[in-house]
Amino acid sequence: MQEKMQEKMQEKIKKLATLQSTDSKLNAIEKSKGNLPYLVNELENEINIINSEIAEFESVKETLENEIKESKALVESSRILLEKYKHQRNMVTNNKEYEALIKEIDFREITVIEEEEKSKDLSEKLIVNNEELDSRRKAVAEKNSMLEEKRSQLDQKLEETQEEEKQLKEKRIILVAKIDKHLYNLYRRIYDSKEQVAVVPANEGHCGGCFTILPSQKLSELKRADSIVQCDACSRILFYEIKDAE
Ligand SMILES: [Zn+2]
Repeated sequence: MQEKMQEKMQEKIKKLATLQSTDSKLNAIEKSKGNLPYLVNELENEINIINSEIAEFESVKETLENEIKESKALVESSRILLEKYKHQRNMVTNNKEYEALIKEIDFREITVIEEEEKSKDLSEKLIVNNEELDSRRKAVAEKNSMLEEKRSQLDQKLEETQEEEKQLKEKRIILVAKIDKHLYNLYRRIYDSKEQVAVVPANEGHCGGCFTILPSQKLSELKRADSIVQCDACSRILFYEIKDAE
């Protein structure tokens, strides 16, 4: 009778220890992904922002180029007119016509000066705009290659761990179903509050979690294995592994 109870309790403790080892393995898998999922997400956001800036600089570039083209065309047509007016000026016969021509010539000369200045101004703006555009294109290219690298690292990591993770999760579900609810709740409480370590070995004479030396009474309780034994200092569930059992 006593022996049967002991066996049953040992089974329970063993299941808890297996659950702990399963959870630790799942934890290690999650940790092995490191900050890759975060990095990939961050890079994607940064690239989106830079790409929308690039689109803006590209549209400014187009506007500036069109304005420069218009300005240059205006200078060109004004120069052709100036030549024509100057030629006509030599041939006019009355004052009224002459004055009208002089007025046209003045207007066209001012236009040439103004438009040349404007076009010079716009060209300077275009240079600055192109520099901004270039630096962003470079930045986005760098970030894209970094993203590619991180993504492939993450994919590789996921590929490596996917199967193991799946198996561990399936094992965990089966295991939890076999553990008494109150014991599972106790496990969860300790697991969540004690750095995800709820079940620890005690065969070295101390708690495997907080390393507090266990009093001999605790050790004999553990050896009796007829109840769940917890560390007095950290409340972790202790199990006694018999060394050199084989
Ligand atoms: Zn402890």
